[in-house]
Amino acid sequence: MTILFEGEDIATVRKHALSHAKKLNCESESACGQCLSCRTFESGNHPDTFFVKGTKAQIGVEDAREQIIMPVAVKPFKYRYKIFIIEGNITPQAQNALLKTIEEPAPYGVFLFLAKNTFGFLPTILSRCIVKKIRGGDFVAVSTLAEEIAASVKNADIPKAFGLYKKIEPLSKEELNEFLDALYVLYGHQRNFDAVDAITKTKQIISQNGNLQLAIELMLLKMA
Ligand SMILES: [Zn+2]
Repeated sequence: MTILFEGEDIATVRKHALSHAKKLNCESESACGQCLSCRTFESGNHPDTFFVKGTKAQIGVEDAREQIIMPVAVKPFKYRYKIFIIEGNITPQAQNALLKTIEEPAPYGVFLFLAKNTFGFLPTILSRCIVKKIRGGDFVAVSTLAEEIAASVKNADIPKAFGLYKKIEPLSKEELNEFLDALYVLYGHQRNFDAVDAITKTKQIISQNGNLQLAIELMLLKMA
């Protein structure tokens, strides 16, 4: 899995990438903050998370080899994924050196690139990345939003859940799908198949350009 988190505000970009990394190895897949994985992640001692840095101004071929290509050949120490968080300029040579690694990744290999924009990346690298555009500081992560909504519905706080529709409305179609996927995972995890069914139906309605507000509100009602 290779994801490029991209946005002008690098601190926000970093926040999103780290939250994603934490979630991937979380024992409840929610970045719970409670499990051993989350706790070691927060203390900066996670055994399967690696921060790749350039020894000079940029990440060069040697850095890529020593900090990514060689270590990814070894299975994770303890958790499901071995995660490489890669921030900073990467020389074209180093990107070329990484091509094969991200093209045929180990099943546990996760590469998270963090950047202000995509300009510094070779097209061959970009074509293998899921690009996540991170907007300004007020950006609400879709997965956080999904958790917020699930919690409101669970506590039968329907008015609050409906109020949250205001936050769903401005999402792009892509973000909306991501949000519904996050909900789907949450409810799938809880084996709440009525909710999963309602979410699937909502996705269908949206793909057919149906009434978004009606679809979401019906879904929230069914989930409650
Ligand atoms: Zn956790």
